[in-house]
Amino acid sequence: MNDLTVTRQTFDEVMVPVFSPAAFVPDRGQGSRVWDTEGRDYIDFAGGIAVTALGHAHPALLDVLREQGGKLWHIGNGYTNEPVLRLAKRLEALTFADRAFFANSGAEANEAALKLARRVAFDRFGADKYEIVSFTQSFHGRTFFTVSVGGQPKYSEGFGPVPEGIRHLPYNDIEAAKAAIGAKTCAVIVEPVQGEGGVIPADPAFLRTLRELCDAHGAVLIFDEVQTGVGRTGHFYAYQGTDVTPDILTTAKALGNGFPIGAMLTTNELAAHFKVGVHGTTYGGNPLGAAIAEKVVELVSDPAVLAGVNARGEAIRAKLAALNERFGIFREVRGKGLLIGAELTDAWRGRAKDFLTAAAKRGVMMLIAGPDVLRFAPSLIMPMDDLNEGFARIEQAIEDVVGAEASVAADAAR
Ligand SMILES: *Cc1c(COP(=O)(O)O)cnc(C)c1O
Repeated sequence: MNDLTVTRQTFDEVMVPVFSPAAFVPDRGQGSRVWDTEGRDYIDFAGGIAVTALGHAHPALLDVLREQGGKLWHIGNGYTNEPVLRLAKRLEALTFADRAFFANSGAEANEAALKLARRVAFDRFGADKYEIVSFTQSFHGRTFFTVSVGGQPKYSEGFGPVPEGIRHLPYNDIEAAKAAIGAKTCAVIVEPVQGEGGVIPADPAFLRTLRELCDAHGAVLIFDEVQTGVGRTGHFYAYQGTDVTPDILTTAKALGNGFPIGAMLTTNELAAHFKVGVHGTTYGGNPLGAAIAEKVVELVSDPAVLAGVNARGEAIRAKLAALNERFGIFREVRGKGLLIGAELTDAWRGRAKDFLTAAAKRGVMMLIAGPDVLRFAPSLIMPMDDLNEGFARIEQAIEDVVGAEASVAADAAR
């Protein structure tokens, strides 16, 4: 191996082809700006998929990374460490939870939550209460259990028999929930805003109904806040903007601002069903990740930061409304705080990726949520200048797509 020259093309030669990354290769970032290997700059509305809530290279996080990096990275679960204990205390002070289990990703946090729910039902009611209720279009991760619980069959097909006892119901459908949740249900898992599934907020009455049904039937209510958590909706966790409190909450993505960490938060009562050795992880709760997450939690839980989320969210909605006045390409703009989806009209169905690609050419990073929805999940502290310049570039990108379409149509008519 003497030639280590790499380009975007190298991806197609050396990587397992489960992703199809953009044509450029990001090299460094600062705040809400990213530069690629050619030195071109991008304004970042993707936030590493709702992860870099405090932007890139945040100075306070760099300080913690350097300090903890020089002290202790990993020690294993035969020992505890101060950063993880402080992180748990902070999260518990901010939420309903009394107990935390740390993992390395959202999927692992959900895996722990689902296993805990099954174990609670087993201990309390016996072996027959194991049904997990989830919702169509939901996303809970890519381990085989979590992907089977997720509501997008295309992700779980072709891997052999799926775990038994999982039901998928339509999201926001109160009557379907009433009909399906019953004596066999051990858990209901729901995203307060479906992220990957198209940025679809839950109706408050729907969440209330789930809470009532879980209480009536001795089932555990799990909120998957992997995407909505850590300030994304303008509350530290999205449940705090509803009148429903879950029994278990899972969090990851923004928790480490890019350092991989996830957590399952729960009550004393439920946590007691996980005894020593019943569940575990090698890396979960390592001091390096925990120290970084502790600083993220401290910074994001600042009321001024959370208020800024709503202000930026409003600004993005206003920009999208103005673009829609001009181009008429969105049928709906929805979401909460800085998790915003713009669904394309029928004329542009299936074309979200084209807008993403055009935006990249104009120097903008953004996301899609399925084939029809443009998704915005930028830094919670994105500078307004970057937001404004980013939307000027997005306007050009839309012009590129819509204009190209118009000239194709004109050619066809000729
Ligand atoms: C991203 C996501 C996950 C999976 O998280 P990973 O860290 O990729 O395992 C689970 N649930 C929701 C709601 C997510 O958005």
